[in-house]
Amino acid sequence: MELYSGRINTLVDELAALPGIGSKSAQRLAFHIIGMPKDRVNRLAQTLMDARENVCYCEKCFTLTDEALCPVCANVKRDTSTIMVVENSRDLAAYEKTGKYEGVYHVLHGAISPMLGIGPGDIKLKELITRLDGTVKEIIIATNSSLEGETTAMYIRKLVGDLPVRVTRIASGVPVGGDLEYIDEVTLLRALEGRTEL
Ligand code: ZN
Repeated sequence: MELYSGRINTLVDELAALPGIGSKSAQRLAFHIIGMPKDRVNRLAQTLMDARENVCYCEKCFTLTDEALCPVCANVKRDTSTIMVVENSRDLAAYEKTGKYEGVYHVLHGAISPMLGIGPGDIKLKELITRLDGTVKEIIIATNSSLEGETTAMYIRKLVGDLPVRVTRIASGVPVGGDLEYIDEVTLLRALEGRTEL
């Protein structure tokens, strides 16, 4: 039995398909949206469309941005000889929030996961190696400490091979299986400072 009539159900289903939104939250959001003034709903819909249409990958680090270069890559004060490799743009934001990291980033958009059928070719690994043009001195691998994150770190170590680049891994002060984005800034900085050669 359908709980609500067609259009309400469709809205609830669309919202429930988003990550982290269960059926109850979806219903609450749906009725909230239906109760909002029409111009606000219009603005929300436009904002969603606008973000989807105009957000793209940064030409250098592949984080999500709406310019050719993201704010970090566009900042001439950043140290381009150090690249921190993260799994996604949210992890980049977590390290940016510490305000203590002066290098640049490389966003993989995922991690190698044989279980999920995600191979090295499915994430931005080739693009990372392309960036090693002789000016890069260190790659700090800050992938999550999950099986996928560790597999990806080892794979990068292998890819870099004999190139004259230091490859380091953030310390495991970051809890095993933990997502970087949920970790507090002090722990993130400690993990960065305690990084070891890979
Ligand atoms: Zn960038």
